Amino acid sequence: MSDQTNATSRRGFLQSGTGLAAGAAAAELLPPAALAQPAATNADADLARVQGRRRILLKGGVVLTLDPQVGDFAQADVLIEDGKIREVRPNIAISDETAAVVDAGNRIVLPGFVDTHHHFYQGILRNILTNGLLNPDYNRDVSNTLTAAYRPSDVYAGVLVTALGMIDAGTTTAVDTSQVSHTPEHSDAGIRALQESGLRAVYAYSRGAGAGTKYPQDIARLQQTTFSSSNQLLTLALGGTLDAKIFAVAREAGVPAVSHGVSGNTERTLVELGRMGLLQAGDEYIHCNHLSGIAWRLIRDTGGHVSLAPPIEMAMGHGMPAIQDAIDHGVRPSLSSDVDVTMAQDPFTIMRSTFTLQRLMVLQRIRNGDLKPPALLTCREVLEFATIEGARCALLDRKVGTLTPGKDADIVMLRADRVNVWPLNNAPGVVVNLMNPINVENVFIAGKVKKWRGNLVGIDVARVLRLAQAARDGVLRRADFKVNLLS
Ligand SMILES: [Zn+2]
Repeated sequence: MSDQTNATSRRGFLQSGTGLAAGAAAAELLPPAALAQPAATNADADLARVQGRRRILLKGGVVLTLDPQVGDFAQADVLIEDGKIREVRPNIAISDETAAVVDAGNRIVLPGFVDTHHHFYQGILRNILTNGLLNPDYNRDVSNTLTAAYRPSDVYAGVLVTALGMIDAGTTTAVDTSQVSHTPEHSDAGIRALQESGLRAVYAYSRGAGAGTKYPQDIARLQQTTFSSSNQLLTLALGGTLDAKIFAVAREAGVPAVSHGVSGNTERTLVELGRMGLLQAGDEYIHCNHLSGIAWRLIRDTGGHVSLAPPIEMAMGHGMPAIQDAIDHGVRPSLSSDVDVTMAQDPFTIMRSTFTLQRLMVLQRIRNGDLKPPALLTCREVLEFATIEGARCALLDRKVGTLTPGKDADIVMLRADRVNVWPLNNAPGVVVNLMNPINVENVFIAGKVKKWRGNLVGIDVARVLRLAQAARDGVLRRADFKVNLLS
């Protein structure tokens, strides 16, 4: 596309729709101050103290460890030491001199949320497909037109704003199901943004488009470079469709396969892969709508994990979310946000959708005369889906997912003393059914404070917003894609 064409389509883009219709135009009109959200800095003495100590004591919170061996507590302390959870119990006696003490009174303290499937690079395209369907809208506009227009710097901006948005909302671990590896430089840009964000992530290296793509063989280079150490927040998987060639590459590389497009329409292929012996324990299967019992048993018996994205699946036409199917076949699902071109990526939205949908389906069965309906999901179970089951799916449950002494300190502190949720009467219930990201006060990842008193730490938020906006503008211009802010 020539500069002349760019200029022309840009004008068309700015003038599209009614009045102030173009997203980029609207954003450009915001005064700089509107984008300059205050970021926490080291000037905050309490923060500096928490950052400067080997030991951090979260004092007097409602603690949901989600580890049945450790139990939950109406009031307890959590001691973090050198980035790991050292102890969880009431009344840990430790002096102010040897630990930074953080008041957790009226806070729910629990493991960070785990999102097992999100296409991070799309962060710059948020809500671009507000009312769209998977087919044809998403496949045409996002997977093809817009994704093809990404440069490495756009991947960097999209991944960074997504990862920071997750931390802001209390998600501490996520699987980036990527899908923008047009060149190795595209892959590297996304990985660099994940590293800079401080999020714990599985990078599921996935396809790209165009002549420059080195998928899937570039996984060998990634293994030898960025992922040569296991002592880091990032781990590697191979993303793809149910394709024997991709599974063979994953098995050769010794990494888990993260599979998209798993549904009743593709399960014959899944069964065939099973017959070929290509499925392994730890593989991840995404969506899984309308699978038969044969496919569910295959996933369960091979040690697979599933990732369900109920809000997106309901809104975009993937089919009925497989919450009950998974439970019925002895598979505890993990949860995921998938894309924010249409729907929120925050864990509260996903948990709430899961809770309400499962209960609706069961209650409708009872209404229709079912005498042996399945059990209604509880908030406590949904919390497990969003934490420990996510950690299992990401193959990180030895490190995170519960507040178990010895695990890494991936912890969120949720404020219960806000007007949207007070008074506090039930801890799992308030998290799953009443809270939203505004209640996320402090976030720790591997014991490092990433969000403090409501603000991201060590992040130049204004820079990230500028980068996201510029990348968005560039992708829209090169794709000649028009957005409409107001309808
Ligand atoms: Zn997806």
